[in-house]
Amino acid sequence: MAYDTNNIFARIVRGEIPCKKVCESAHTLAFEDINPQAPVHVLVIPKGPYLNHEAFAANASDAEIADFHRTILEAARKTGVAEGEGGNGYRLITNSGPDAHQEVPHYHVHVVGGAPVGRMLSRRREGA
Ligand code: 5GP
Repeated sequence: MAYDTNNIFARIVRGEIPCKKVCESAHTLAFEDINPQAPVHVLVIPKGPYLNHEAFAANASDAEIADFHRTILEAARKTGVAEGEGGNGYRLITNSGPDAHQEVPHYHVHVVGGAPVGRMLSRRREGA
């Protein structure tokens, strides 16, 4: 699947659609999810045109990858979920591709926390 330059997150990066920004760095943007699933639910995205985790890990520069992870940490600290800042931890989720139910075709990591978020996966019927 080719990268769609008009996907919603690309438009947020370009400033065409507003977002509630948490923090920003040279290569990365962090903003609140529009439909939060936890008291803290931040999306962290690279500014570059990467479809999913596979594309980002394969093609992004070392600087982009380091910047991305440092910005995840900055977002966790700013939202008060980082343990070093007195928070109680957080979960990082990446849905990459159809089996993972990726909805927006621009790589992103969800940072969720602010309350217990349960176990990582529950067993479900095949195809559910
Ligand atoms: P995915 O299923 O692709 O991992 O998650 C996409 C996420 O993007 C969802 O949690 C959804 O609520 C969020 N989202 C979709 N459209 C928008 C938007 O226009 N603005 C913001 N802030 N979040 C969005």
